Amino acid sequence: MSKVIVSSLYQSDVFIMACRQFDKAADAINLPEDIRDRTKYPRRCMAMALPIKRDDGTVTVYEGYRVQHNLATGPAKGGIRFHQNVTIGEVAALAMWMSWKCSLVGLPFGGAKGGVIVNPSQLSTGELERLSRRYMQELIPFIGPQVDIPAPDMGTNEQIMAWMMDTYSNHTGHTDPAIVTGKPVSLGGSEGRREATGAGVAYLSKRYLEDLGISPSQATAAVQGFGNVGSETALALASYGVKVIAISDYTCAIHNPAGINLAKAVEYVKYNKVLKDFQGGEEITNEQLLTLPCTILAPCALERVITPELAPLLRCRILAEGANGPTTNKADTIIEERGDIELIPDVLCNSGGVIASYFEWLQNLQNYYWTRDEVLTKMFTILDRAKEAVEYQKRKYKFSRRLAALTLGIARVAEAKQRRGLFP
Ligand code: GLU
Repeated sequence: MSKVIVSSLYQSDVFIMACRQFDKAADAINLPEDIRDRTKYPRRCMAMALPIKRDDGTVTVYEGYRVQHNLATGPAKGGIRFHQNVTIGEVAALAMWMSWKCSLVGLPFGGAKGGVIVNPSQLSTGELERLSRRYMQELIPFIGPQVDIPAPDMGTNEQIMAWMMDTYSNHTGHTDPAIVTGKPVSLGGSEGRREATGAGVAYLSKRYLEDLGISPSQATAAVQGFGNVGSETALALASYGVKVIAISDYTCAIHNPAGINLAKAVEYVKYNKVLKDFQGGEEITNEQLLTLPCTILAPCALERVITPELAPLLRCRILAEGANGPTTNKADTIIEERGDIELIPDVLCNSGGVIASYFEWLQNLQNYYWTRDEVLTKMFTILDRAKEAVEYQKRKYKFSRRLAALTLGIARVAEAKQRRGLFP
């Protein structure tokens, strides 16, 4: 028997949600007690005060975190989120999901996540650069290409990765591109990485449409979130012939039953930063978007948006979780009981991003670069393999698809820990 003494450090709705998912999966596979808590709780975390000079000469101190959940299966891997509502509990939950995600799709990585409590849209480019560099500077003793490899997440992008890579490389004294993934291609970023998460969400949606016998040209989609993941998901779905009837960001949602002109929406957001007042359809609320009748609903924004109140109202055939943790535990149970929605769980659905990150890291270590086609084709192969494994596990044990994915991911991490043993 193991005993765990748990502090309230990570206490938050989203961390409790990730823990409940873990407990359910651990029960379902009878995970031995003496390995459970070791597998479940984050290995270590770092909290940082990040003072930066503002453009007006004043100094603001931001708070940032990095949680390394698992390091037993390789270097920790996961993005960095810049968002005003970041908490250490949220970062810990996201780190946990990175562990199951990397494990499920068979990457030689553990799981981690970082975050800074900041609204990046309120910083100038210079302020954002100073914050990104300071964050990386503080992380240096804690990370490395063989220890922990950050990447973009909500609120961070290629440019931020470039500043972080530069800061780290200045410290080591040589260009060290493998320290972060999601970099610009000119700095060792991978072709295909920028679109990988959305391309993966759309690819898996298409594969599940095939299983349902629905052709993409008969399908409609509603996509929540128009950041990197949401916009690339919408574009990739449209490229398969799916009609995208609604998109949204945090300012509004736009509905057009005839299909949104995505090229115009992308152009609009490039100049206006937000979707508000985009004239490509009727304005609705984000909640209305989630309950629109459509074939594919893809929440690609924040966690916990599919609530127990909304779950009975969903009118999609496929729920493609582009975001991490978009569905609460209770909503999950409701969707399972309904039985009429194919839920593609986050750890499978959005894993295209970290798969392409793995390829980027490999290319950096080998100094040998691949084409976009090679990256995406290899990524789709891994997604197909993971989907097949999940479907097999689901059928064999009569699990929900989420439980099937989580049990596969968790079992591999637990086995690695068991085999490595406890030191000393
Ligand atoms: N932030 C992304 C995720 O949640 C990507 C992480 C990575 O590429 O390391 O999966």
